[in-house]
Order: sequence, then C-alpha cells, then structure tokens
Amino acid sequence: MKQKVKTTGHTDLDAVVVGAGFTGLYMLHRLQKLGFSARIFESAPNVGGTWYWNRYPGARCDIESMQYSYQFSEDLQQEWRWKERYASQPEILEYIEHVADRFDLKKNITFETKVESAEFDETASNWVIKTDRDEWVRARYFIMGVGCLSAPIRPEFDGANLFKGEVYQTSVWPEHEVDFKGKRVGIIGAGSSAVQSVPLMAQEVDHLYVFQRTPNFVVPAQNRELSDEEVDSIKSDYKSFRAEAYSGLTAFLFPRHNQSVFDLSPTERKKRFDEQWEIGGLPFLGAFNDLLLDEDANKEVTNYWRERIGQIVHDPKVADLLTPNEYFGCKRLCAGTDYYETFNRENVTLVDVSKSSIKRLTSAGLETKSSEYALDMIIYATGFDAMTGSVTRINIAGMGGQSIQEKWEAGPLTYLGLSVSGFPNMFNLVSAGSPSVLATMVTGAEQHGDWVADCLEYMRTRGYSRIEATEAAESQWSAEVNQAGENSLRSKCDSWYVGSNVKGKARVFAPYIGGWPPYVKKCKAVADNDYDGFTLN
Ligand code: NAP
Repeated sequence: MKQKVKTTGHTDLDAVVVGAGFTGLYMLHRLQKLGFSARIFESAPNVGGTWYWNRYPGARCDIESMQYSYQFSEDLQQEWRWKERYASQPEILEYIEHVADRFDLKKNITFETKVESAEFDETASNWVIKTDRDEWVRARYFIMGVGCLSAPIRPEFDGANLFKGEVYQTSVWPEHEVDFKGKRVGIIGAGSSAVQSVPLMAQEVDHLYVFQRTPNFVVPAQNRELSDEEVDSIKSDYKSFRAEAYSGLTAFLFPRHNQSVFDLSPTERKKRFDEQWEIGGLPFLGAFNDLLLDEDANKEVTNYWRERIGQIVHDPKVADLLTPNEYFGCKRLCAGTDYYETFNRENVTLVDVSKSSIKRLTSAGLETKSSEYALDMIIYATGFDAMTGSVTRINIAGMGGQSIQEKWEAGPLTYLGLSVSGFPNMFNLVSAGSPSVLATMVTGAEQHGDWVADCLEYMRTRGYSRIEATEAAESQWSAEVNQAGENSLRSKCDSWYVGSNVKGKARVFAPYIGGWPPYVKKCKAVADNDYDGFTLN
C-alpha cells in the first residue's frame, strides 16, 4: 500500500492514547506527570472502558476488589473502601470516575470520539490519527489501551431485522433501565456474561430461555460484603499484600496448593474440592498444581463438577446438559451466583443449541432447527473478538503502509506484547503477547504504563524520536508466547483465548501464559539493556 499521509504540518501532541479504561487512564496519568502532551480518545461518554459498556444485570468482576484496583498511589488505595469481595460494575465505575477526578485526567480526554485510523508518517516519524468526528491529530506516539474484551461480536442470524421485540447485547448494555417484567426473554450464550445475568433476569421475567451451545464450568463466586476487619488488615500493610500478589504467577493472590490431584486419596481430594468450592471464585484453580497441565488431573475436576451439578439441579437431563465436557480451565472459569440453582425455576428453560442450532429469528421470536420460541426480548451474550479485535478494528497502517490486519493475519506478532515491528512509536498495552487477561488487568495496566512512560522519558532525554521492535526480537518473543500457549491445556479447546469464536480468525493462544514474574523480569531486562530488541533513532 502506498504511503498516503501528508508530511507537512506539525506534531500536535506527544502521544495519543486510545481508550479511557484502567489502562488508558493510568498511561495518561504517567504522561501528564512527566509533562508530555497527551490526549485520550474514548468512544464512550465517560471513563471506564469495558466497565462502562458491560452494565448488564449482575456484571461484576471475578478478581477480588482489594486486588482489582490501582496500587500506584498509597493514598488512593487507603482512601477507597471497597464494599464487596467482588465489586459490582457500578462500584467499579464509581471507582474509575473517582480516579479520573482525583488525578485530574478528564481535561485530557475527548469523549464520544472513536479513533478510526492511524497512519505512520515515515518522514516525520509520527502518527496521523483520525477520528469519527473528522478530527485529525499528529502525535509522536500512538498508544492503545483498547482492552482485550471490548470488540463485541453478534452472530448474524437470518431474519434478525424481522424480530419485533426488544434486542440487547450484554457488552453494550444501555444506560436506561431494562424492564423484564412479564416478558418472555431469550438469552443467547452461556459464558460469563450470561452466567452473571441469568439468575437476576430469571427473578423478573415471565419466562427465560437460555440458548446454550457449550456448557461452562461455573464456580460459585461466594461473594459477600467485606468486613472492616479484613479491609483494615490489608490496608495496614497494603504494600506487602501487593508485593506478595506481584510475585505470584497471575499477579493476584489466592492460596495455591502445591500438590498434585493424585497426591491425595479420592476422599481427601473430594474434601479439597469441596473446600475450594466453598472459598469460591477463581481460587478454585489453586486446588491442585496440575489441573491445567495434566489431562487425568483435569478430568477429576470434570467428574467433581458433574457430581455437584447433579446435586443442585433437580432434572437429570438439564443437569447433564449443564455439565461441561471440555478441559476444566480451558475456557475462562465463570464465577456465578445461584447459576445452576436457577435452572430449577419453573420459569427458566435451558435450550440446547449444540445440535439443533439457532436457525433464524422471526418477527415473533427465534427458531432452532427443531423448535420455535415466542419471545418479547432477545439478549445476545455472545462475547467478543477478544485480544486483537479492538486493535484490528482500527485502520492502522505502519511502515510502507502495511496494515495491522495484514501483519496479524496469521495471529498477533509482537515484541513483549507492547510493540510490533513495522509499526514504530506504537504501543499496544495489556493485550495479545503479554499476560493481560491471565493476570490482573489493573496491575498489567500499571506495569505497561510504567514501562512505556520510562521508555518515552529515556528517548526524550537522549533525543531519540523513533523506536521500533526488530523483526528478530518480535519473532523470538512471538515463538515464546506460542510455545507457552501450546504447553497449556488452555489452548486445547475452542475459546476466545485462541480466537476460535470469530469466523476466519487465525487460531493462536493470544495472551502470554508463561507467568507474570518472568514476563516482568523480561520487560525490565529489555529496558535496563537500553531497550534491547528495539531500534532507536
Ligand atoms: P464468551 O465467554 O465468549 O461467551 C459467549 C457465549 O455465546 C458462548 O456461550 C458461545 O457459545 C455463545 N455463542 C456465540 N455464538 C453463538 C451462536 N451462534 N449460537 C449459540 N451460542 C452462541 O463471552 P462472555 O460471556 O461475554 O465472556 C467473555 C469474557 O469476558 C469472559 O471469559 C471473561 O473473561 C470476561 N467477563 C468476565 C466477567 C466476570 O466474571 N468478571 C463477566 C463477563 C465477562 P460457544 O461457547 O459454543 O461458542
């Protein structure tokens, strides 16, 4: 592709950041502190990123609130009081708003403005960034904080435009209240978003149909209010608490038993699983050390789940349909509240669309290959073009006009996740090629924000205007990311981690699963070594 950018004009800004979620906001904070001119473009009318859009009933974080929060400011973490073990979407949004106000970030955010394209100007070594408001900006650095789960997807069913009822999508839920009362509602999908919303909707609707193609592992979240004692205990030495989390595999803390499933007798094993079930949430993954590595160990969890569901769900056929048949932990573990119990309600029907798939929508509802369902409302809980979609939906053109879509056709190629060869002065934060979704996103936002801020400062003090990952460094890192993915059972089933939920997308396990500490160490070593693997000039 030919270079189309005009090379006249001036650099308006040092940096454009895309997205005002946790990642973009921290990046802006660092840039502001260092005196760089920077602006965030954000498509939503307010801060929050994914937490702005995913406001469906029951939306809640699956990482504990005391950990799913910034740690860069001791004052901030002391003054904020989280209410629950797992924060609800409104509370997280309130927190992000508080952070934006407290650190005076909104003055440099343009809301309701989408970045549509970014083109690298090779002569001027800067980016020309265009928005959907016919605005364009030149910036030395183009930094994306666009999130891993922020490019919603919706299957295109025949007849979708014929349906006369209300239509919603969990990932772009409206701000106004949705009235479910007296309505026949169909929800398509059985991932985390459905798992969280189904039990609440069921209490309101006339009838709820859950169209499930693949059952998920749903562990009870065991959410509860946080007591003053536990909050105070963490706050009395938040620094050590954070340091301990930081040294762990996923940058968040939960007890992990360093034992194989087969170190315990079947009775002791069941007792351990029961204990983990009672603890609830993602900590279930810490029940044993070989659950994600050994197929036989993994099968023990499936057996346990089958037994558990059988005890909760009264109808054996429904219980059977809800029982997962894939590796445990392969898809992201869902944390729910009363999810399985909800299928005992008379006003809830589980519809298996694995064989009798959804054929089309009609004016009155939905048709599968074998039945028709009259509906007043259809809700898509059908997920995201995860990891790369939020990047590739922007028309990004690097050196020689190469597009990011071309570059990533066979899967994401990055150096440290942060940088892409052929796309100088561009940074992609907390996304493909870095731990991102496998660690705490907020901690990832701080680690990447610090790394990029330090790098920009390094360049400024030495008079550099261009940084680009070498092809060699990129290919070595990408091979390491892919290898780590292949070693894990997590890459062995269809999921958004591997991109199989998007038609035509290359199947690659996108996040780096080699662990948080080695990743952080590698990033530090690169910076300490004068940005080894990058060309600077
Ligand atoms: P998801 O896990 O990708 O689930 C999408 C669901 O839609 C799947 O059950 C999928 O079935 C189904 N689906 C897609 N197309 C379909 C079709 N044509 N017919 C029938 N079913 C179809 O998406 P999500 O639930 O939004 O969650 C995505 C991720 O977001 C989570 O894994 C999590 O990381 C994050 N999230 C977290 C929380 C939380 O707990 N904090 C809450 C929500 C989301 P198949 O599985 O068969 O493809």
